[in-house]
Amino acid sequence: MSATQAYAAQTPTTPLTPFSFERREPGPRDVKIEILYCGVCHSDIHQVRDEWGGSIYPMVPGHEIVGRVTAIGDQVKKFKVGDIAGVGCFVDSCRSCPNCVAGLEQYCDNGMVGTYNGREKITNLPTYGGYSTQIVVDEQYTLTISPNLPLEGVAPLLCAGITTYSPLRHVGVGKGHKVGVLGLGGLGHMAVKFAAAFGAEVTMLSTSKSKEADAKRLGAHHFALTSDPATMKELANSFDFILNTVSAQHDYATYLDLLRTNGTMIVVGVPPTPSKVPAFNLIMKRRSIIGSLIGGIKETQEMLDFCAAHNIVSDVEVIPVQEINEAYERMLKGDVRYRFVIDIASLK
Ligand code: NAP
Ligand code: ZN
Ligand code: ZN
Repeated sequence: MSATQAYAAQTPTTPLTPFSFERREPGPRDVKIEILYCGVCHSDIHQVRDEWGGSIYPMVPGHEIVGRVTAIGDQVKKFKVGDIAGVGCFVDSCRSCPNCVAGLEQYCDNGMVGTYNGREKITNLPTYGGYSTQIVVDEQYTLTISPNLPLEGVAPLLCAGITTYSPLRHVGVGKGHKVGVLGLGGLGHMAVKFAAAFGAEVTMLSTSKSKEADAKRLGAHHFALTSDPATMKELANSFDFILNTVSAQHDYATYLDLLRTNGTMIVVGVPPTPSKVPAFNLIMKRRSIIGSLIGGIKETQEMLDFCAAHNIVSDVEVIPVQEINEAYERMLKGDVRYRFVIDIASLK
């Protein structure tokens, strides 16, 4: 066993505080990773505060993990000690259901094992995430990372990156498509970068006028303030796709009306309370809504390689772990430019 320092939530209503626990020694197929950076996802807030139900405490959040390999099991092939490795939102799955076999482990029919707030398959022990000094993961659930990119900017790719890359690829976004990205936060800013890189005409749909210049710098061709009725009227029936990254309660109907005939809203944001979907907003233009959950290991590696080839990383504000509670409050106000990333050196 190996002593690990972390920050944890002990209850849904108390701030995160220092916590220590033991990681297992690496088994034959395990990689031990000294964590360097961990991104802060809005899903961390939802789960810390038990907004989706079923949260397990104490909870060490964090599923956007980048670090250096410090030990490997004797059957590990992907890494040698000293390599840079990544860990995303899950650390295991059944490996045998049709989804696992197809590389869609996130949709494992028997339930993937979350990097945190999950339970290990054999021991049933809770999993602890990346707000910690080290992690031990089966190499099959790790990613290789180019050492040439700034690692603090790579960490958010492990969730915000793949969560936006995967559905945009799935629906085939490319040249000639008009894409609206709803919500400019961690996921939204990666969605803008990817949709623009894939050749689409991208409009940032935001509640924050102050983010207009950033949206354009990130690659959006247009910016629309969603609280402005005239703008919303102008944009009606115009998008092929809207990628909805909003974390809080909002009205789907308002944004469905912006889709043209056969247009699709891709839902990735997970507000704690359900939104109504009025039938008329769908049927009048044969619109559809689909959902998407992160991405499988194979596609996550493809995304990381795409980012390395195209020099794409997340725009980050690096914080010491001691500022995590304040960072959560800022995210809830939409005040993040555009991902908080914890420098794990602050834990040591
Ligand atoms: P974030 O950084 O906090 O960004 C969310 C953005 O949503 C805000 O910056 C804000 O952008 C917009 N927003 C907030 N409240 C709003 C409201 N009431 N109406 C309209 N827009 C609002 O969050 P994130 O980390 O990107 O995560 C976004 C959501 O995706 C969360 O619910 C998270 O749990 C979920 N998620 C899902 C997956 C998946 O696999 N499906 C993976 C990761 C995260 P503006 O200021 O531009 O309006
Ligand atoms: Zn996440
Ligand atoms: Zn499975």
